[in-house]
Amino acid sequence: MPKRILIVGGVAGGMSAATRLRRLDEFADIVVFERGPFVSFANCGLPYHLGGEIADRGKLIVQSPQRLKQVFKLDVRANTEVLAVDRTAKTVTARHIITGEESTERYDDLILATGAAAVMPPTPGLRRAGHFTLRTIPDMDGVMDWITKHSAKTALVLGGGFIGLEAAEQLHRRGLTVTVVEKNPQVLTPLDPEMASHVQLELKKHGVRLELSNPVERFEDAKTGASVAVLANGTRIPADVVIVGVGVRPESKLAKEAGLEIGTSGGVKVNSRLQTSDPHIWAVGDVIEVTHGVTGTPAVIPLAGPANRQGRIVADNIAGQDSHYRGTLGTAVVRVFDLTAAVVGANEVLLAKTGTPFQAVHLHPNSHAGYFPGAKPIALKVLFHPESGKLLGAQAVGEDGVNKRIDVIATAIFGGMTIDDLAELELCYAPPFGSAKDPINLAGMAAQNVTEGLVSVAQWHEVPALVAAGAVVIDVREPGERDGGIIPGSRSIPLGSLRDRLNELPKDAELLVHCASGQRSYNACRVLVQHGFKCRNLTGSFKTWKAAQQPA
Ligand SMILES: Cc1cc2nc3c(=O)[nH]c(=O)nc-3n(C[C@H](O)[C@H](O)[C@H](O)COP(=O)(O)OP(=O)(O)OC[C@H]3O[C@@H](n4cnc5c(N)ncnc54)[C@H](O)[C@@H]3O)c2cc1C
Repeated sequence: MPKRILIVGGVAGGMSAATRLRRLDEFADIVVFERGPFVSFANCGLPYHLGGEIADRGKLIVQSPQRLKQVFKLDVRANTEVLAVDRTAKTVTARHIITGEESTERYDDLILATGAAAVMPPTPGLRRAGHFTLRTIPDMDGVMDWITKHSAKTALVLGGGFIGLEAAEQLHRRGLTVTVVEKNPQVLTPLDPEMASHVQLELKKHGVRLELSNPVERFEDAKTGASVAVLANGTRIPADVVIVGVGVRPESKLAKEAGLEIGTSGGVKVNSRLQTSDPHIWAVGDVIEVTHGVTGTPAVIPLAGPANRQGRIVADNIAGQDSHYRGTLGTAVVRVFDLTAAVVGANEVLLAKTGTPFQAVHLHPNSHAGYFPGAKPIALKVLFHPESGKLLGAQAVGEDGVNKRIDVIATAIFGGMTIDDLAELELCYAPPFGSAKDPINLAGMAAQNVTEGLVSVAQWHEVPALVAAGAVVIDVREPGERDGGIIPGSRSIPLGSLRDRLNELPKDAELLVHCASGQRSYNACRVLVQHGFKCRNLTGSFKTWKAAQQPA
C-alpha cells in the first residue's frame, strides 16, 4: 500500500514538503489542500507588484496545480479548505470553497503548513472598504483594483514592520503620498533603535510621513477616499487606501481544535523532527513555534527560508530519514528606498529579556575600499557574549554590501563562532568588493579589543548617565568636523594633538572619548589609558550617537 500523505497549505512550507516527498517516494499518494485560488505563489513578491517593480503579475505564480501534477504527480486541490482533523480515524474533512462540496480524506501522515494570519488590531472603524491586509494574491489584486478605481492619491500603512515598509516604498513608487503609522517609538523592531533610526531618516528623506509612538485610535468615514485615521495625539490623516501590516499570528486553529499541543508563543509545538504532539501529524512554517537559535527560547519567527527548509526536513522524516531542525536565527533583510537593513540573531531587547549577558560594538566601515568609486558606509552593530565572545546577533544598515555582511555573520552564528573567528575569517577581497580588512574582520577586531581589555566601550544611551556621573566628553575629530554637529558639552582635542595636550585632561574623572565612527577614538583611548587616564570609547561614536538622537 503506498503511503497517503495529506498536506494542508500549498505555499512555502507545504509545497517544499510535497515536492521533496515526491523525490524521496515515487509511489506515495500526496494530496495538497490550499484554501486560496493559488498554490506555490511568491508571497514575498506581492509588495513589489503594487509599485510596478515586478510588472508582470503572472511572475508571482511560481507553479500551477496542473504543472505540479505533471512534474511531481501531486494531487493539488486549490480553493479547498481543511475544516477539521479526526486524529482517531486519521482523516480530515475538506470543503471546496466554491462548490461547497465536502469530502473526508484518510491519511497515514498529515502535514500542517497553514502559515500565519494577518493580525487585525481592534481599532474602531478598521475593516472598512479600502482597508486591506497583504498576504495573498487576491489581497494584492484588491489593493491594485481599489487604487485604480478610486484614483487613490494617499495611502496610510498601519505598522512599520518589514511588510509595512515594503508596501510603503512601493506605494510611494506608484505615486501615492504615504504615511506610516507605528505605535512603537521605532520602525523595524528586530533592530535596536539607533539602527532603525537610519531607516526612519530614509523614509522621511523620500517624503514618507512617519508617525511613531502615535497609534491610530480610530478610523472615521471620509467624504472621499477610504477613511480618516485619528491618531492618539489627535492628528487626522485622510487616506484613500489603508494597508494593515501590524504583524501575523500562527494560523493554528485547525491544530488547536484537533487537540494538538500549542506552545507558549501561540505556535504549534513540534520536536526537532517537526513532529507535533501526535506522531502522525507534522507541522512546518509560520504556524509552528521554533527554538530561537541564539537564546534557545520558544519563538514564532515567520520567514520564508525557515518554512522552506522545514518542509524539506519533514519530508525526510516521513520518508524514513532522521532529519532535525536546528532553530531559527531570524535572519531578515529589507530594502527601504536606497537603504538596505538586515538583522540576524538576538537584539538588545531579546537578550535583556532572556537574561543573556551581552556587549555591543558599533562600526561605520565602507562597503568596499574607500579609494575605489562607489564605496558606501555601513552602520554595523555586533552583539556578543562579554566573556566567551560568542556571537549573539548583528544588525546592519547601508546602501551597499549590507546583506553580504549579515549573511556572513548568520553563518558564523549558526556555526557557533566567536568574535575571534570573525577577526580571522578569510573573505574575498578586491577594491570593488571589500577591504583587505573586511567590515566583518573589523567588527571581530573591535570586539576583541573589548574582551581583551584593551578598551572599555560606552554605548550611545549611556552618555547622559556617564556625563551626570562626571565623565568628560572628548571629541578627537578635526575641528572642521564639528561643524556637522557635536555632543553637547564635548571638548575638542583632535587626535593629532592629544599627546601634547594631556596636561589639559583630568586624571580623576572618566574620559568619554569619541570621533566620527569610533576608530580614531579607540586610538585616543589607547594613548590615554597608557598615560594613566580612565577612558571609555563611545562605540560607533558621533555617527551612532547622532542617529539615535533623531526626533521620532
Ligand atoms: C507580503 C509578504 C512579504 C513577505 N516577504 C518576505 C521576505 O521578503 N522574506 C521572508 O523571509 N519572508 C517573507 N514573507 C513571509 C513568508 O512569505 C512566510 O514566512 C512563508 O510564506 C511561510 O510559509 P508557510 O508555508 O508557513 O505559510 P504560507 O506560505 O503563508 O502558506 C500557508 C497557506 O496555507 C493555506 N491554509 C491555511 N489554512 C488552511 C486550511 N485550513 N486549509 C487549506 N489551506 C489552508 C493558506 O491559504 C496559505 O496559502 C512575506 C510574507 C508576505 C505576506
